[in-house]
Amino acid sequence: MTKIAVVPGSFDPITNGHLDIIERAAKVFPEVRVAVMNNSSKNPLFTVDERMDLIRSVTSQFPNVIIESSSGLLIDYARDAKASVIVRGLRAISDFEYEMQITSMNRMLDESIETFFVMTKNQYSFLSSSIVKEVARYGGDISALVPSVVEKALREKYIR
Ligand code: ADP
Repeated sequence: MTKIAVVPGSFDPITNGHLDIIERAAKVFPEVRVAVMNNSSKNPLFTVDERMDLIRSVTSQFPNVIIESSSGLLIDYARDAKASVIVRGLRAISDFEYEMQITSMNRMLDESIETFFVMTKNQYSFLSSSIVKEVARYGGDISALVPSVVEKALREKYIR
């Protein structure tokens, strides 16, 4: 049976921390679907299409990584995609509580889909899309935090 893994997130925008999780998932699972979740409670900087294009351009070297979007429940997306695993990244204790809640809820909704956690690399443990946007907004150097295409896209957003 082909094990399909879903890597869900807002990816607003994708950072080196996200990319590391996607790369590591792509080494383990034959097929990885990155799902850009269109969450109405967040006010994103990038449109879903822009976020998908950025992810596509930085994951093009992985033939088993597919980029999609969803505006519904993650568990419904995962079921439709015939995925057996949801992969999430963990940075710090602060992620744990939130992830525990979501994982428990997803398990209640569909017991057949497992959630696996991948521990961040040390150098990305402080890294989030929000912090990158904050630094970029004030013209700080983000070149070590995001791929160059993302850095350029952020600069363009904040020039306007
Ligand atoms: P969400 O709104 O679903 O949390 P994010 O785009 O913030 O979406 O994150 C998507 C996934 O990537 C989450 O599992 C998150 O824990 C993980 N992630 C984000 N930043 C990092 C990082 N620096 N290192 C490891 N995992 C990360």
